[in-house]
Amino acid sequence: MTGTHRRMSLRKDLKLRSEMPGDSRRKMNQTAERAAGTGSSVVIESCQVCGHSPLDPVLFLGYMPPVNQMRRIGEIPREQPSYPTQLLLCPSCQLVQLGLSVDPAILFPPDYPYTSGTTRMLRENFAQLKQEADRIVGLGPSDLVIDIGSNDGTLLSNFLQGGHRVLGIEPTDVGETANERGIETLRVFFRPEVGEQVRSSHGPAKVVTAANVFAHMEDVHPIVDGIVTLLDEGGVFVSESHYLISLLKTLQYDTIYHEHLRYYSLHSIKYLLEMHGLEVFFAREIPTHGGSIRVYAARRGLRAPHPSVAELLAAEPVDGALRQSLADFRKRVVLSKLSLHALLSSVKSVGDRIFGVSAPSRASTLVNYVGLDDGILDCVVEIKGSLKIGKYLPGTIVPVVEESYLFEEQPEHALILSWHIAEEIAPKLREKGFRGRFIVPLPEPRIL
Ligand SMILES: [Zn+2]
Repeated sequence: MTGTHRRMSLRKDLKLRSEMPGDSRRKMNQTAERAAGTGSSVVIESCQVCGHSPLDPVLFLGYMPPVNQMRRIGEIPREQPSYPTQLLLCPSCQLVQLGLSVDPAILFPPDYPYTSGTTRMLRENFAQLKQEADRIVGLGPSDLVIDIGSNDGTLLSNFLQGGHRVLGIEPTDVGETANERGIETLRVFFRPEVGEQVRSSHGPAKVVTAANVFAHMEDVHPIVDGIVTLLDEGGVFVSESHYLISLLKTLQYDTIYHEHLRYYSLHSIKYLLEMHGLEVFFAREIPTHGGSIRVYAARRGLRAPHPSVAELLAAEPVDGALRQSLADFRKRVVLSKLSLHALLSSVKSVGDRIFGVSAPSRASTLVNYVGLDDGILDCVVEIKGSLKIGKYLPGTIVPVVEESYLFEEQPEHALILSWHIAEEIAPKLREKGFRGRFIVPLPEPRIL
């Protein structure tokens, strides 16, 4: 960094701090330690957003392997890192967050096996996002849309078809798939410098999207700064995040893993964006990932807030009510583990086989927390073409194999690990010829 740059960013920092609520301003002076570049992890001792400490413990799920580091079938099990997985609450800004930040180079290796284009619900969601954003923002043909964490370009393809200019930012190999599909994609981790470079090379963006990545990045303040840099004066930032309230309601503790550093409510995301001069003017719940929240924000005072914002805020628990919901959540998580054991025990005791169905990231948390090893699950099946086939589920030697194996073998039971879309998966497998019974592990373990 040159001297001028440093002075400029210092000025920006000071300006930012002068706009923050007093309490946070004081706390933010302590620079948080970063895991990026350490090859390891750092403990989060103060709130990632407002700096408050100490944070209140909510739930400890144990030591977990990185969910997307999968060993090849046949590889001899060898030493593997695992990280404490603890959920914490900031009593000041209400942000629910993880107690550990792991180096993104470990969590998102170049061969990161996740693609958003393979899930129908995500494809539909992004098509709907395009229509909604178009209506709310009013996009012109030359307007630029930038997607941060653009994955295989599924979201941007909708805007490209609409005739808009698009740019993806995606550090993993899957970004190349997008480039091959004609969606220009920069293969970098998003940082404020990237925001500045892109603004000078491509111009300001009318819309910046961050779908299911906004909770993944450490250094959240520089990231939001970078987003503000990218935005045109009248530009709009659209974020989609897994929604804390749905997580609690439907017991989705399996979405707690190290990629997800923060679990946003509208209260906590609004607080964060306001620290950067952004105002939330529209918000709504969407069905992706078992319940997410889509939030639109623009520079303060630019757009009148839609009633949806106040309505959602009023429906969220805060302070004592939130603490109570979190305590109940913990109790229910523990009981669900024990009931799942009881159900699986009755199946295994008569000698039945159980195959897992699909291996999303969340399956890793479920399998490791509940302790589903290769003695319980024979294998997990994934749709042909999945990058996870030929590997073991993290932390186990349960192999991931092609879906056709399920129809050939006809095990007595199939445990749906993507249980949040069980309604979509079960009829499809039935149609393809699976004759066994389905087990849904959460929120209440049950046989369909
Ligand atoms: Zn906080």
